[in-house]
Amino acid sequence: MWIKFVLLSALSVCALASPIALIIDAPSPMPREVAFSFRQELDQAFGETGYRFTWIDRAKMRPEDSFPDLVVVRFQSECRMDTPTPRVTAGGPHALAWTHRTGQEMLPFMEVDCARVRNMLRVVANGEPMAARQEMIGRALGRVVAHELYHVLTGSPAHAVAGIAQPSLSPAHLVSPALGFTPREVNLLAQRSMAAERTQAPLPAAGEPASDSAR
Ligand SMILES: [Zn+2]
Repeated sequence: MWIKFVLLSALSVCALASPIALIIDAPSPMPREVAFSFRQELDQAFGETGYRFTWIDRAKMRPEDSFPDLVVVRFQSECRMDTPTPRVTAGGPHALAWTHRTGQEMLPFMEVDCARVRNMLRVVANGEPMAARQEMIGRALGRVVAHELYHVLTGSPAHAVAGIAQPSLSPAHLVSPALGFTPREVNLLAQRSMAAERTQAPLPAAGEPASDSAR
């Protein structure tokens, strides 16, 4: 009973968390199928954590736009399967994506190497119809970006032993029907989103009793 009550309380607080603006900085707009699959996968990965996202195309931003919480997601090269695969650049970071840091601090700015993601999918996507391949890269991007968002939102470079937050994702991990965070990471993210929500909560009006969480 107590566990049920705590769980219900946590979910109701999670539902109040303000969305984080994901500023999508890409060399060209993603095809519709890729964008749909990418967003769906990311929303699914964070579904039970309390975090929600809005999607902002950097090319359409206006100077007066401002967002209380934002993360910049910069895609290098085109994230699609219907154009010739770009050459993977030699040297530099070999990761599919990485988050910028200042010392130990994780910055809300990540880069995704789409050429490397496409290259990893080459074998598993071979022979599939184009629509399925576009859906596949969207799903892969959702998992790669979810992995980096885990670092940004927890403020830690640490990894999990399994799931999306494990140190490296294989081609099978990128396209398998279901891959999420393990319960441990979902819990950690839910705690972070609740803490963020508490800091955003307005102060109670004069004479109004403070809630338990405000004490
Ligand atoms: Zn990582």
